[in-house]
Amino acid sequence: MRLLVVEDEKDVANALHVGLSRDGYAVDIAENGNKALEALAVNNFDLLVLDLNLPDMDGLDICHLAREKQPPLLILILTARGKQKDIVTGLNNGADDYLIKPFHLQELLARIRALLRRDLRTREPILRIQDISLDPVEKVVWKSDHRIQLTRKEFGILEYLMRHPNEVISQEDLLEHVWGTMTNVFSNTVRVHIQSLREKFEDDSTKAKYIETIIGTSYRFIQPEHESIESKNNKESANE
Ligand code: CA
Repeated sequence: MRLLVVEDEKDVANALHVGLSRDGYAVDIAENGNKALEALAVNNFDLLVLDLNLPDMDGLDICHLAREKQPPLLILILTARGKQKDIVTGLNNGADDYLIKPFHLQELLARIRALLRRDLRTREPILRIQDISLDPVEKVVWKSDHRIQLTRKEFGILEYLMRHPNEVISQEDLLEHVWGTMTNVFSNTVRVHIQSLREKFEDDSTKAKYIETIIGTSYRFIQPEHESIESKNNKESANE
């Protein structure tokens, strides 16, 4: 995750740089509005922490421009302007959140995490096929309402198969997408993991309900016809 912090007060900028980096973000600092616009034109950021009182322009103009040019960018305004009408103006100009100075670093970090999590959630909805649900964000799987514990590789295989329901996925595809191209694994590795997944889902390889074996070395996650029509309709209505 890459963040741009627009802040003209050196001490605040430094504190933000240290605090955000420690939380695992890549952080760029722009000390005025023009530098911010330059950085936004050149780089792709996930989130913008934006001061409003800048030496060369009003941060609200940056907010407005950034929102127009990069709709997915998350914007958090961090400012001393704390009147209710300022907050409303900020949010109306496209900000996703608004925090008033002086602020606590821990609160800022929590708000940034919440914004990014919410964003990830809209991009990564829970996958549901038959009675299996898989949450790609929290990395958990349920069968009906019973949580199933999977290893990371089992989770990776299941996620890949569920993202391509009813498609025949070869062992090589799974090795490439779950293990990565550089790994050297034994040829029966995939089979062993599929076997373990089946046991956890109480699936039967000879009469599969979830994961079917195709010609010995390929697999297919079974999505019943009525469900695929439903999800197709859902997608179409979501696109309207
Ligand atoms: Ca300022």
